[in-house]
Amino acid sequence: MSEPTFATLVSRWYEQNARDLPWRVTGVGAWAILVSEVMLQQTPVVRVLPAFQAWLARWPTPAALAADTPAEAIRMWGRLGYPRRAMRLRECAVAIVERHGGEVPDRLDQLLALPGVGTYTARAVAAFAYGQRHPVVDTNVRRVVCRAIAGEPDAGPATRPADLVATEELLPAEPAAAALASAAFMELGAVICTARSPRCAACPVESVCAWRASGQEAPAGPTRRPQRYAGTDRQVRGLLLAVLREASGPVPHQRLDQVWTDDVQRSRALAGLVTDGLVEPVGGESFRLAGDGPALPAPALEP
Ligand code: SF4
Repeated sequence: MSEPTFATLVSRWYEQNARDLPWRVTGVGAWAILVSEVMLQQTPVVRVLPAFQAWLARWPTPAALAADTPAEAIRMWGRLGYPRRAMRLRECAVAIVERHGGEVPDRLDQLLALPGVGTYTARAVAAFAYGQRHPVVDTNVRRVVCRAIAGEPDAGPATRPADLVATEELLPAEPAAAALASAAFMELGAVICTARSPRCAACPVESVCAWRASGQEAPAGPTRRPQRYAGTDRQVRGLLLAVLREASGPVPHQRLDQVWTDDVQRSRALAGLVTDGLVEPVGGESFRLAGDGPALPAPALEP
């Protein structure tokens, strides 16, 4: 009898050990999977869980979100961080309604054409919602493949085409088995083959792992320097947005001036929110979340 493949070993482990997460429930639907994938970008599972449940309870379909305002999407995003994702998710819902009758498409090219849906998200939805065979490559999968197959401790800078090819070579031919393997690779990287503390003794592919066989030690330092938050424009943007989220309409700039004492930095952060389309000025003296009220008059054209 032939030896089980790498994908078979990881998939068997996954079937026994996968975390119980709401976006993995059978029949959860493509919209829920798309929402979860957008939220999980740059945000840990534990923070996504309550936001995901609340979002799906309020907007169980793309049409429901598309019918609401950008301001409500930003409000519901709360403190998940990187709130442009809320705007993009709503734009995506609008496009799904306009182009696909409210159903998340199952074709990769149509998924890739949606606003805010990139290489990773499109393949994740195609695989996890529709059981298709696509390499789904996030940071965790890159690390697993790099260690187990190439024998290198870290994947280094992303090389998207090469990463996709290397991962696709590991997938079973049968689409459903490939989709299961894709979920399994991600889980292995998230909970066993972590960046700093790989638990090789508990790993289902320890016996065939090239990095383990090389006898190399775990990386001595963080693979990425943690991003500073305190004192950054990101923090100031978050403080400004928190005030605007809690208001039910325009907020006078004097109120916003109170959130941060550095005038230059505060003005820069506010201008950035306006440029990103998250916030809009109202009458020169106030600001509100995008679309939070009647449409604003178009600016007068120069004669
Ligand atoms: S044996 Fe260790 S390094 Fe290899 S894939 Fe498993 S956890 Fe990662």
